[in-house]
Amino acid sequence: MLLAVLLTMACEAEPRREAMVRDQIEARGITNAAVLAAMRKVPREEFVPAAARGLALRDGALPIECGQTISQPYIVALMSELLELKRGEKVLEVGTGSGYQAAVLAEMGAEVYSIEIVGWLATNAAGRLKRLGYGKVQVKCGDGYLGWKEHAPFEAIIVTCAVEPVPAPLLEQLKPGGRLVVPLGRPEQTQMLAVFTKDEKGTISRRNVAPVVFVPLVRGEKR
Ligand code: SAH
Repeated sequence: MLLAVLLTMACEAEPRREAMVRDQIEARGITNAAVLAAMRKVPREEFVPAAARGLALRDGALPIECGQTISQPYIVALMSELLELKRGEKVLEVGTGSGYQAAVLAEMGAEVYSIEIVGWLATNAAGRLKRLGYGKVQVKCGDGYLGWKEHAPFEAIIVTCAVEPVPAPLLEQLKPGGRLVVPLGRPEQTQMLAVFTKDEKGTISRRNVAPVVFVPLVRGEKR
């Protein structure tokens, strides 16, 4: 009986996640099969504070601890698609936050390195990722502006906080053929989601994708 109740609870979110993917993500044109499968599988409700669980699958960003936010599901899917990841590729995330984006990338088969400047969030996200079966994701507390030299170069880099211009160390740590997705702009403005690519000769190109709103990248000591 207890088992049946627990199983029901565990499965409860799935039809709702299915609806989230169908109505918010596929409906807006995301087609990458690995992204869609990961968004169906990762339990987003586990990444938001307990009081906000009931809102976890709604079509918007949500506040998490320490005054930060977890992005809207569609934006997570869009940024994941723009990374054009193949299984086994190395990806650096700047701004671990709740760990949700990192879990989606891990579910897509990427080798994920994620940096968070707020110590409490880094520790919490690392514990949560481990508990949910994403223990291979490497999380460290530090200033992601500087990238993660020991593990560079990366086939893909995703910045989940707003910055302008794009941090030079991140472009340096991008592998030839690599993609970097970043919300470019000042925090008080709407930012532009941009994709930078580095070709085999090391030449960087930029394209703009969509206006977005992210919390700022902050510099300096760990918090
Ligand atoms: N990707 C997250 C959402 C990130 S919100 C998720 O899926 O939940 C942006 C995060 O960037 C915040 O947690 C903020 O603390 C962090 N951040 C801001 N500046 C940073 C920096 N210089 N280095 C690393 N993380 C930073």
